[in-house]
Amino acid sequence: MSTATPSVKVEPRRGPKYRFFDTEVTKISDVTATVKLFDLRVPEVENFEFVAGQFVQLDLPIASKVTRRSYSIATPPDGTNTFQLCIGIVPHGLGTKYLWEEVREGSILKCSTPLGHFVLPDKIEKELAFISTGVGIAPFRSILQKGFADGSLNNTQISLFFGNRYKKDILYFDEWEAMAAEHKNFHYFPVLSREDHYHGPKGYVHAHYMKFLEDKRPATFYLCGWRLMLDHARQHLTEMGYDRNDVKIELYD
Ligand SMILES: Cc1cc2nc3c(=O)[nH]c(=O)nc-3n(C[C@H](O)[C@H](O)[C@H](O)COP(=O)(O)OP(=O)(O)OC[C@H]3O[C@@H](n4cnc5c(N)ncnc54)[C@H](O)[C@@H]3O)c2cc1C
Repeated sequence: MSTATPSVKVEPRRGPKYRFFDTEVTKISDVTATVKLFDLRVPEVENFEFVAGQFVQLDLPIASKVTRRSYSIATPPDGTNTFQLCIGIVPHGLGTKYLWEEVREGSILKCSTPLGHFVLPDKIEKELAFISTGVGIAPFRSILQKGFADGSLNNTQISLFFGNRYKKDILYFDEWEAMAAEHKNFHYFPVLSREDHYHGPKGYVHAHYMKFLEDKRPATFYLCGWRLMLDHARQHLTEMGYDRNDVKIELYD
């Protein structure tokens, strides 16, 4: 008798197949003063299937009208039932307070089927520019790791503009330099706004992608993070002459 458990089928929209799984927290790592990584496992299935760039919702027992909070999956799909979330604490936020204070390794969280359309198309026809700050890096880590592992990004020019205040805030710090060293088509811009004595790109991300793409060559932009950064980026890209269809957005608030 087969003991195989079924896979989760990717269900991009809420619908009849949208459901929650009891999901075990297998590891919690403190990576900065305000960000933790949560490694999760869905025991009910062998393969938690999703598309790189998608997010899940956690249904948290919090005293809020809306109890679901969305989190991008930070790891690539790998045929297993495990994945990682990269979560930043929000001052006075109900969900993150619960995750910080109540959730431990071994805790069970209610986690949804994967959702969202912040994914790459099957056929990539233009250069890609990824723009994020802070925890907004999560979907890009999934997309980049998947694309370099299976070779689907090997022939595309890709730039990553990653904004933070200080060097110590750069999530997955070692991975980006290594990725850039290994893949000549990957251009990494760690932009820091408050670090003294820093020889890399300084200030906010905007000046840097505007300079890198100043010839306004064909490109598709993927923006992920909080509203203020995304609004500014959208405005700059429009002023540069890029079409709104060239700008894909994952808004966190
Ligand atoms: C598609 C999607 C993917 C997401 N992925 C991630 C992710 O990978 N990692 C992650 O950490 N978060 C992610 N978020 C944000 C996450 O869903 C929650 O909004 C966040 O964790 C705050 O929840 P909370 O319950 O602690 O705060 P709440 O109690 O919901 O919020 C408190 C108040 O603070 C505001 N607020 C929330 N965050 C900020 C902020 N950073 N700066 C200023 N004001 C803020 C809210 O709008 C609200 O008014 C994502 C959101 C979406 C929609």
